[in-house]
Amino acid sequence: MENISITNAEWQVVKAICANPDIQSGEISKILCERFEWKNATVKTLIHRLLEKKVIKNKQSGKKYLYYTDFSIDDLAKQMMQSQIEKICSTKVGKIIVSLIDKNELSFKDLDDIKKALENKKQFAVDEVKCNCIPGQCDCNHESCCGHRK
Ligand SMILES: [Zn+2]
Repeated sequence: MENISITNAEWQVVKAICANPDIQSGEISKILCERFEWKNATVKTLIHRLLEKKVIKNKQSGKKYLYYTDFSIDDLAKQMMQSQIEKICSTKVGKIIVSLIDKNELSFKDLDDIKKALENKKQFAVDEVKCNCIPGQCDCNHESCCGHRK
């Protein structure tokens, strides 16, 4: 999956489509309009943008268009998180992951999975993560960053 950016509003539509494959725009409106105080036209605009971004697809059935996606909600969510993480200085990603663990409700199963992921990740760990920012864009004060700051 290439990097796709999905806005918060578009994300609500994607979730409704993932949960109800081959859904019509009217049904998406029924799910979302009252909750978010949107008009049907809002939903249609969001659907149009998602089609352009190739996140969702449509097919015709009689006079109706049905909307679906080939992606799973899990894959889309992971991709969305990853594209957010990539905006952040690579030296700060570790702390962000710690804060995500800290701030979110997690099950014992989640914790087990995280523990396994950490154990597995040890073999790929580096002594120091290098900054990936453009020079002049970063305040991480790492020796490897920008060269001139310490
Ligand atoms: Zn940096």
